Amino acid sequence: MTRLLRCHDCDLLHEVPEVPAGSRALCGRCGAVLLARRPETVERSIALALASLFFWLVANLFPFLTMEIGGRIEPSRLASGVGGLWADGFFELAVLVLLFAVAFPFLKIAAWLAVLVPLHLGLKPRYLAPLFRGLDLLHPWAMTEVFLLGVLVSYTKIVDMASITVGPALVGFVALIVTMIWTDLTLDTAEVWDRIAAPPESGVPATSGTLLVGCHVCGVVAALSEQHGVVHGRCARCGAGLHRRKANSVSRAWALVVAALILYVPANLYPVMILVSFGEATQATILGGVQELIAAEMLPLALLVFFASITVPVLKLVGLAFLLVSVQRRSRWRTRERTVIYRIVESVGRWSMLDIFVLAILAGLVRLGNIATIEPGAGAISFAAVVVITMFGAMCFDPRLLWDAAGANDGH
Ligand SMILES: [Zn+2]
Ligand SMILES: [Zn+2]
Repeated sequence: MTRLLRCHDCDLLHEVPEVPAGSRALCGRCGAVLLARRPETVERSIALALASLFFWLVANLFPFLTMEIGGRIEPSRLASGVGGLWADGFFELAVLVLLFAVAFPFLKIAAWLAVLVPLHLGLKPRYLAPLFRGLDLLHPWAMTEVFLLGVLVSYTKIVDMASITVGPALVGFVALIVTMIWTDLTLDTAEVWDRIAAPPESGVPATSGTLLVGCHVCGVVAALSEQHGVVHGRCARCGAGLHRRKANSVSRAWALVVAALILYVPANLYPVMILVSFGEATQATILGGVQELIAAEMLPLALLVFFASITVPVLKLVGLAFLLVSVQRRSRWRTRERTVIYRIVESVGRWSMLDIFVLAILAGLVRLGNIATIEPGAGAISFAAVVVITMFGAMCFDPRLLWDAAGANDGH
């Protein structure tokens, strides 16, 4: 049995034959993964999601890092940084860190189990489709691996100042990252959608006046009637809104790029971190933090922070602006390579949260009154806003427009 699929990156219509377990089907034009078949996906994913739940509890219930300085012992938990940021009056940052490092990973695990366990038991409660659709939205915002990198950077920043003991929660957190990535790699979303509701038989009637539109969440291709060049409808299987292209993609993405560009200035001019030690305050900007790591002869780490905090945001903004200009100029130049640029821009953006996580960890850990206290600076909020806004900007951009502009999708 073949199935009709539209490529989510370039909109080419494919008739995909049955793909054996362990194999993938790629788009012949842009190289996007259309289908990736995984063996025993539901059962294996349930086992891995249960392991993730266990490690999430370990990571949140036990001490994470313990700092000893001048006879004072300061234990901290995973969420201590959230409390630290809140106490310093930076509640926006506290909420972001709580969501990205603690709440969203938990919600993701809970949603996996709530969808997969009933499917394994042969049950189909009505919430399955909306919940699995929600999981799709949640995916980029659960940032455990970025947080772990933040722990590493924080550790090297304070290891000279105090003695640090690694707690069981940190070990649990590393295990949590492994099991969550493993679950992502084991879960065959197309198979889960097929088990929630069977896809319609291939060969959707495409009469004149109708367009075949692919659902960007569950992949079903539906025939929709076209009125004044606009198609509207809801996916019969998952309930997502169907449209040929993301609405107002170019102007929305431009607005977000410009907003991020403006905020990028205060993010770099104002300090992101303030260290108060014996009544003396030292302020550090993002670039200052990198220079500090170089001075401490931690070159690999300095390069890493430079890459995550300076290179990635700049490249994302330049990359998105380049893609937008190329769509507006109806460029035909290397469309496939430009699609790859889009995929990179979309996937690396979350790593820029690194500096915010470092700040949260240090603000939670280094609270020793007069001896040493680390507080966020005014630049931190602008920087977090730049990261979140550019992530939304990349999500608003519709890569299929690159192919439309190149004339590759003419004659729908
Ligand atoms: Zn494609
Ligand atoms: Zn759908």
